[in-house]
Amino acid sequence: MIHGKIIRPDRGEARPIKRARSLAAMATRPPHVVVVPYPGSGNINPALQLAKVLHHHGAYVTFVNTEHNHRRVQATEGAGAVRGRDGFRFEAIPDGLSDADRGKQDYGRGLAVSTSTRCAAPLRDLILRLNTTPGVPPVTCVLPTMLMSFALGVARELGIPTMSFWTGSAAALMTHMRLRELQEKGYLPLKDESFLTNGYLETTVIDWIPGMPPMRLVDFSSFLRTTDPDDFGLRFNESEANNCAKADALILNTFDGLEADVLAALRAEFPRVYTVGPLGSLLRQLGHEPGSATATESATGLSLWKQDAECLAWLDTQEHGSVVYVNFGSHTVLTPEQLAEFAWGLAASGHQILWCIRDNLVRGAAAARAALPPDFAAETAGRCHLTPWCPQEQVLRHPAVGCFLTHSGWNSTCESVAAGVPMVCWPGFSDQYTNCKYVCDVWGVGVRLDAEVRREQVAAHVREVMGSEEMRAIAARWKEAAAVATGAGGLSFESMLSMVRALSSESNSSDVHKELKDQEFHLD
Ligand code: UDP
Repeated sequence: MIHGKIIRPDRGEARPIKRARSLAAMATRPPHVVVVPYPGSGNINPALQLAKVLHHHGAYVTFVNTEHNHRRVQATEGAGAVRGRDGFRFEAIPDGLSDADRGKQDYGRGLAVSTSTRCAAPLRDLILRLNTTPGVPPVTCVLPTMLMSFALGVARELGIPTMSFWTGSAAALMTHMRLRELQEKGYLPLKDESFLTNGYLETTVIDWIPGMPPMRLVDFSSFLRTTDPDDFGLRFNESEANNCAKADALILNTFDGLEADVLAALRAEFPRVYTVGPLGSLLRQLGHEPGSATATESATGLSLWKQDAECLAWLDTQEHGSVVYVNFGSHTVLTPEQLAEFAWGLAASGHQILWCIRDNLVRGAAAARAALPPDFAAETAGRCHLTPWCPQEQVLRHPAVGCFLTHSGWNSTCESVAAGVPMVCWPGFSDQYTNCKYVCDVWGVGVRLDAEVRREQVAAHVREVMGSEEMRAIAARWKEAAAVATGAGGLSFESMLSMVRALSSESNSSDVHKELKDQEFHLD
């Protein structure tokens, strides 16, 4: 157990190389996995990476997008991105929302309500259709990401085994699972609004969650910041975390060295946990190097925004470790004032800047970039590249990048760890606070900004991280640990092999549709 002490990456012993026999070689009938990601980049991208890993090992994959996202991907990346190929098909189901619903302020909540209450029937119809499509093997596993546990119910009804993919960290899963217990013990809901600001969240420390370091309430999921015991976000996220673990197996995009204590605690409760991260590194290890094949084959995500590959060319012109890369992910929204504080803080840091500004990054602005302070361009002329959306994993792995100013989404955090890039964290929602806690206090690869953005602090923190030899060295060791984990014989690599073997043995059991309902997945 870690008690406020920074842990150092263990280089780990690479275990003897065990060749990955493809499922096709092991199985007479390939498993058919239906992957159902929650419709946002933070779930679609890792789900697609996982789907590619499974396909690489011979599984037949059906990747299910919402119709809305399917059209968006086609609009940004072209029809080829979702055309599929041999043994890998894309399908789409409606998410139940109208275009008018998408414009609403509470779109995120509306989407969660809609997917969880209206997607079961279309998914069931899709699976039944797949099962009667000539040339398509019968569906042998339904694999939803977090927030899509309705798909587990559909699978159960049809007697199909399941695996759940929690796309956050193991620590975030553990804390989300404990939200109900926090409520039962009287920590939640907050007594009144003043508890948001009176120090209660900062001074209340929870030290009884298995595998977790002592955590202040402020480091927990933001869904606990409510005075309503029946708050939708609190209920939904707590129950979705616990539902995830009801699948026949649980998959996590993390690696054992990174979250050893909490993974041990999770495994004590749930025996079938596969840790296959960082998935981007695992895919590289399997030969899916970005840029190495056709656009469809090499892409490690499906972009809902048009990607700017020019930023890579710009990075090529920059010196080693000289650039601060700024990206707040796919959901974060800033006020114009926060945007201005970040802009002036970055300008004052004196460093080169690569800043992804999504069109909808700023509340109330039609095009967020236009909301930048008028003098920012002149102030940073020659040292700033702005772009709406970039191929993030490639950016983080570029040698010119020295630091990542991030909202601490799990994918971004994991990708940064895998790339060996230290972080300046500005968490603002859900599990981002927990990720930030681990980055700064457990792994020692980042510093945290206050919730209230101030240009002086932005500049100081960016300078501190860019100038810290120590942090750079620790980050480099985590990068190596991630590479060892995902390399042949590493723990993530082995876990991935166990996962594909479990899928294979299920798909070849005697009567998959009659008997699988009550069976368990078998590890070696
Ligand atoms: N991403 C990207 N380009 C961008 C911004 C983000 O490819 O310009 C990807 C990023 O690599 C990550 C995902 O989008 O895989 C964002 O997920 P994360 O969990 O970090 O944050 P969220 O968007 O869910 O808040």
